[in-house]
Amino acid sequence: MRRRIVAGNWKMNTTYAEAMDLVEGLKNALTQEVVGDTGVIITPPSVYLSDVVGALVDNEFIAVAAQNVHEKDNGAFTGEISAPMLSSLDVDAIIIGHSERRQYFGESNESCKVKIGQALNNELAAIYCIGETLEERQSGNFMEVILNQCAEGLEGFIADDMDNIILAYEPVWAIGTGEVATPEQAQEVHAGIRAWLAERFDAETAENVSVLYGGSCKPGNAAELFAQPDIDGGLIGGASLNAEDFTGIIKARTNA
Ligand code: PEP
Repeated sequence: MRRRIVAGNWKMNTTYAEAMDLVEGLKNALTQEVVGDTGVIITPPSVYLSDVVGALVDNEFIAVAAQNVHEKDNGAFTGEISAPMLSSLDVDAIIIGHSERRQYFGESNESCKVKIGQALNNELAAIYCIGETLEERQSGNFMEVILNQCAEGLEGFIADDMDNIILAYEPVWAIGTGEVATPEQAQEVHAGIRAWLAERFDAETAENVSVLYGGSCKPGNAAELFAQPDIDGGLIGGASLNAEDFTGIIKARTNA
């Protein structure tokens, strides 16, 4: 069954002390009543993953993800982090193909496909990010761009693999800009992705895959986004750095 999920992407933010404070704040705020059946994921910088996982060992509500992974298991790749390493830390998931990684680090659909495979082979869920730039939106062919990201990034995977793959639709023009897609714009894309999933896999798989929206999602606009039938939750950047705001978005998901 498809899950309601709110995931926070901390990006390259927080000192160690700030990160651990944020974890404490979330532990205190996220009760059964707040979380309901919403899956909550936080994605701290990789240097803090071990301590964050440790701080949450007795917490049943918050899962931990990494922001990126290398294509290989190990080897001479200075500065990189592999899926077996993340798995050995008891990390739960990996964000793959975030638009900032595509834009600044040259990630392609092809490299994302390999990374998704690495996640799945190491019993980690993959949160695969897709989304169009402003130019692509304005040109009108944004759906083609998004579905091509789906097709190439998910090439070779089978329906069963989709149990461990979450999709995150993040229009690049809405990330960190304060400009949020309207609920109708987001729903249109999410419905298109789900129709594509039905064709590429089958109707049951399409129904079961969680498709998150990301892009300037805040406590004030989350409820109307989450009220859309094909929006299962959010991937949250800026607002996930504040325990109160992130909790507000989780509440919006739980109560929608
Ligand atoms: C993101 O980076 O995935 C994101 C959605 O950022 P923001 O919420 O800050 O727009």
